Amino acid sequence: MDAKTCIQKLQHVGVLAFATVDEHGNPQVRNISAIHYEPDAIYFFTARGKDFCRELLADGHVQILGYTRYKEMIRLSAKAEPVPEEQQRKWMDVIFSEQPYLSNVYPGDTRDIGIVFEIRDGSIEYFNLGVRPIFRENYTIGCGEISPKGYRIGDSCIGCGTCLTHCPQGCIEQGTPYAIQQEHCLHCGACLESCPVSAVERVS
Ligand code: SF4
Ligand code: SF4
Repeated sequence: MDAKTCIQKLQHVGVLAFATVDEHGNPQVRNISAIHYEPDAIYFFTARGKDFCRELLADGHVQILGYTRYKEMIRLSAKAEPVPEEQQRKWMDVIFSEQPYLSNVYPGDTRDIGIVFEIRDGSIEYFNLGVRPIFRENYTIGCGEISPKGYRIGDSCIGCGTCLTHCPQGCIEQGTPYAIQQEHCLHCGACLESCPVSAVERVS
């Protein structure tokens, strides 16, 4: 798996959930399909009057989520920027040609109320629940950065093995200290709750 394959999979999903935060700090999520995919970038169309557009212009942070039929969760965390003015028409035409229903929603020149955003920098979380053990990995596009998540076992581990018996995925290796196989970890927290000496820490 890699970032480009994840973007291709998102394209196959077609309709993606785009989440932002409004001016009151409340989460806002909507489905978007007016999207054009490049191997390492995403372009999408919305209307300038929509709250979605206002939230993107104010902050730019957006999280995009797709879920495939194979139980793969793909989450792109990124900053969206308006495409430069001189390129707006070009990308709008590309998106409208790929998504013919848009000409029904915005016929003729009414599409001019639209604005195209681009995403070139971001991080991708890939999480496959359709295999055992489950598999997760992180990738970046452009200048995106990965924020570590999950759990790790510290040096105070006494090697009792309790965490391993509680782990739904059996993804903890024996050793000194024990170690979590991060690519197979659910982030469920059972190891942290079961450890008798509090050797498991949350990573964030
Ligand atoms: S967080 Fe859950 S899945 Fe991950 S190592 Fe701990 S118990 Fe296992
Ligand atoms: S339960 Fe805690 S002390 Fe025991 S093996 Fe796991 S991390 Fe180490």
